[in-house]
Amino acid sequence: MELLKARIRKDGTVKGNDVLKVDSFLNHQMDVALFEEIGREFLRRFDGCGVNKILTIEASGIGIACVTAQSFHCPVVFAKKSQTKNIAGEVYSTQVESFTHGRVYDVIVSKKFLGPEDTVLIIDDFLANGAALEGLIDLVNQAGARLAGAGIVIEKAFQPGGERLRAKGIRVESLARVKSMSEEHGVEFVD
Ligand code: 5GP
Repeated sequence: MELLKARIRKDGTVKGNDVLKVDSFLNHQMDVALFEEIGREFLRRFDGCGVNKILTIEASGIGIACVTAQSFHCPVVFAKKSQTKNIAGEVYSTQVESFTHGRVYDVIVSKKFLGPEDTVLIIDDFLANGAALEGLIDLVNQAGARLAGAGIVIEKAFQPGGERLRAKGIRVESLARVKSMSEEHGVEFVD
């Protein structure tokens, strides 16, 4: 998606070798007009797949997921990072290792909001090692729901998540795929 790549080139900054900061338009301050274009692009790619629910993970996926859901005319469920255990069996629960914070979270979704009747599109801001996406896929599987695929805004293609998930047969659509990046040379895209 050229508009997005141009924005990353203009406003993105690279920290170290593997963190791309896009907090001026994507995951702190949010450019909602850009989100609308992103949502339309996800609809173009997943139209006709029968998506009736969008699933994301708090916190930075929520804004993009909500705007995307307006294109799909469906609700958004966000997986919550939780300290509470699943004693009463009311939630699906999995564990996710955070790329940015380097710790493991319990992540839950209420059984009320995901089930076998759902066809789910997962939305997230970044794909790096794939832990967040794998956790969300685990929740979809626990619910017995159908997975249409995953829509990712920025995939760091030099990290292993995307390749591993595609090899498992998961449809992963990334709007900007970063081939390499450095503080010195900035960001280079796959195509
Ligand atoms: P993964 O689980 O695929 O390793 O990482 C995905 C999650 O980590 C995303 O939900 C995102 O919040 C965060 N993340 C991964 N890489 C980056 C990055 O380069 N920049 C920012 N801002 N967040 C990232």
